[in-house]
This record gives sequence, structure tokens and C-alpha cells, in this order.
Amino acid sequence: CGIVGYIGSDQAAPILLQGLEKLEYRGYDSAGVAVFSEDGLKVVKAKGRLRVLNDLIDGGKTLPGTLGIGHTRWATHGAPSDVNSHPQTSEGGRFAVVHNGIIENYLYLKNHLIRRGVQFVSETDTEVVAQMLEYYDHGDILETISKVISKVEGSYALGIICADYPDRIFAARKDSPLIIGVGQGESFIASDIPAILSKTRDIYRLKDGEIAILQREQIEFFNVDCEPVEKETEHIEWDI
Ligand code: GLU
Repeated sequence: CGIVGYIGSDQAAPILLQGLEKLEYRGYDSAGVAVFSEDGLKVVKAKGRLRVLNDLIDGGKTLPGTLGIGHTRWATHGAPSDVNSHPQTSEGGRFAVVHNGIIENYLYLKNHLIRRGVQFVSETDTEVVAQMLEYYDHGDILETISKVISKVEGSYALGIICADYPDRIFAARKDSPLIIGVGQGESFIASDIPAILSKTRDIYRLKDGEIAILQREQIEFFNVDCEPVEKETEHIEWDI
């Protein structure tokens, strides 16, 4: 139900935990994070309060790295459990995905992939997005994301990281809110402004069908046809 992502020069996990705390008002039953550490993409997630996750990673100390995505889940498909918590990963663990919303046609898409030998581990609608990214990836990540979101029906705010791109966060949305924050040498994603307001007041609002690629010093936007889109930042004046 809440998404936070960070790429910068500070430790990501504590920023993700703080941001997710600010989104607690939205309600949730589980929480998780994925962080790029020196030895690759690491996912830690658990049913329960953020405190459970915080203890599992010792406030972030056991999960060092300066890029990550985090999630608080309000289960819609699949009971609250460790395995159904987000991030959901593709078989082999190359893609990690956090998702707010509902993929309406997930069962059709899931069965399609199962017939082609893909092994699912969770009961979530979200896992199908992670598995499709792996299945349809032929080297151009933007095209892959665009292909996957053109196949899914329903609502989604998505934060995606991929082991092949340890310096990028990918984001997309339709009918679920997602904002992008710009800082000094750092960038953020969040499902709502309070999650990142202590870090930056300059944001972009992602529109339906748009894809964002975040790096530390640069944020690019594309439409669903992978054409670049120019966007203006908005300065947030209010406080929480
Ligand atoms: N539909 C997804 C799930 O049940 C995401 C729920 C959410 O927005 O937290 O895992």
C-alpha cells in the first residue's frame, strides 16, 4: 500500500524505513525492502509491522547499499505472509518489484507463464509482473517494461530494480499514485509526498502510462511507446 525508493550516496535502507513509516497511515499488513549491496541484489521482507522488518535488518545495518526500494503491503491477492510480501522477485532473482494496486488479469498472465515453465512462489498478483519482466527481457529494459505494462490490466504503481542495472530505479504507474523526488545527487520514488518530504520538496508527478528511469544525477521519462517525455518539477510548499 506504500512505496518508497531511494538512489543516492546515503545508506538506502534507513531512508526506506523512515519513508515507509510516513505512509503507515495508509494501513498495511507486511513490509519489505530490496537493496543493492556489494554482493548483489538483496531482498528482506516479512509479515507484520515495520518494526519486524527493522529488527530483521538491524535498522539497515545488515543491508548496506545506496540504492533500494521498499514497500508496505495491504494484501488483495494472497494472504498476508512472508512469501507474499513485496518486493516480489522473478525466478532467479534478477528483477525485484514493489507494487501498489491490483493486476486484474494476473491469473491469465500467470497461467500463460506457468505453461512455459516459469515457477511461481507466491499467491500475489504482483509476482506476475516480476516474472514477466524476466520472461520478456531481451536486453532493452525500457522496451521490456513497456511491453509488460502494455499486457497488464488493472491499477499499478511500480518500483522496479534489476540486477543488470545497479545504478537505476525504474518506475511506472496507472491509476495508482506515484511521485518522483529530485534531490542533490539523489532521487526518490514514493506513493505519496510525506514519505520523502524531509528529503526533498521538488517532485514530478508520474502520469498514467509513463515510465521513469532514475539515476543519482538524472531522471528520464518516457511514454508507453518508449518516446522521451519532458516534465516539469513542482515545488511543495506545505509541511506535514
Ligand atoms: N495487489 C498486491 C498484493 O496483494 C498489492 C497490494 C498493495 O497495494 O499493497 O500483493
